[in-house]
Amino acid sequence: MYKIEQIRKDFPALADNLDGKPNIYLDTAASAQKPQCVIDKICRIYEHTYANVHRGTYALAEAITTEYENARQIIASFIGAKQDEIVFTRGATESLNLVASSYALNTLKEGDEILISEAEHHANLVPWQIVAQKTGAKLKIFKIADDGSYLQEEFEKALNPKVKIVAITAMSNVLGTIFPVKEMAKAAHKTGAKIVVDACQSIVHKKTDVMDSDCDFLCFSGHKLYGPTGIGVLYAKADILQSMPPYQTGGDMVDKVTYEKTTFAPPPARFEAGTPAAVQAIGLGEAVKYVSSIGFDDINTHEADLISYFNEKTAETKDLKIIGTAQNKGGVFAFDFNGIHPQDLSFVLSHEGVAIRIGHHCAEPLVNRMGYTSLARASFGLYTSKSDIDAFFAALNKAKHFF
Ligand code: PMP
Repeated sequence: MYKIEQIRKDFPALADNLDGKPNIYLDTAASAQKPQCVIDKICRIYEHTYANVHRGTYALAEAITTEYENARQIIASFIGAKQDEIVFTRGATESLNLVASSYALNTLKEGDEILISEAEHHANLVPWQIVAQKTGAKLKIFKIADDGSYLQEEFEKALNPKVKIVAITAMSNVLGTIFPVKEMAKAAHKTGAKIVVDACQSIVHKKTDVMDSDCDFLCFSGHKLYGPTGIGVLYAKADILQSMPPYQTGGDMVDKVTYEKTTFAPPPARFEAGTPAAVQAIGLGEAVKYVSSIGFDDINTHEADLISYFNEKTAETKDLKIIGTAQNKGGVFAFDFNGIHPQDLSFVLSHEGVAIRIGHHCAEPLVNRMGYTSLARASFGLYTSKSDIDAFFAALNKAKHFF
């Protein structure tokens, strides 16, 4: 039984009043609130276990290095990977740029193709545009349905032996659509492509297993997974990581350096030049432990319940149009309400303590493809409750009278 009230108590920000209004936080897809255990862990490290990692031989340095590498192990187990297949980055954006710069720029050539969907975040679009410009490869975009659903026939139509990289979101940050990564990886591998999975949204909503899905690369950001900002993860299969040259160079990523020449450390160190965000990585390890302690079975049941409640309320609300109604979707709802400009809507909702995201959601071509220049979006986390949804609909109905 999901104890939502208990879970909400783990997140101090949810108990705050903002200008006398409760904190109705419906912007978890942008960034999640943090549980007390993550906040405490970060404080404890700074208070008692702080030093640089991988450098000193004194007790503090060894203690934080152990914590940092433990975090890598916790995250590896969480997604079914091996410890040395986990590279810490600043976030999903950096992970994708790392794959584009280190892997794609060094393997693609003119005539090759990169295949992405219409539903990609800029972080999984712009790096591929740059790779295409620099290598002469072609960037191809496969269509999704008007309701935001994945279209297998469109994907398979676009696949051919020229496609060397398929880069796909596992869950859209605008539409909530969940893409069948395992089936897509199978099809991509059949024609000889590698698959890069942007798991930024999906990692929060469903169990991720890189062995089972057989993806070649997968990335996500810590801050959406109830962890700190400034930390992200790149998973890549060990043999692929080993074949890749460094992305950045400097301290801690070398094997031997002379004035003339440098040899590089094996992965993952090869890709972690400079002082890493060790405290944030340890905080992310704590966040992963927290999510695992609740478990995806319960998280998924709770989310499905919220989604059907939200859908029921939507059906009762005149002039509310959800953009993205795929059968298989997570708790992310972009919407148009009676043509009210999202910025005006957000202003009024904020007055009621309701936080939503507005704009193009860093997926401008997708928002345009759905027929809009800007959309409002409400999104759920594991702490979202039915009373948050009630407050959202009450605020929407109030907003109607302003415009
Ligand atoms: N991909 C998706 C699907 C996202 O939702 C986001 C964040 N909005 C990103 C990539 C980029 O994540 P970050 O800004 O944390 O690097």
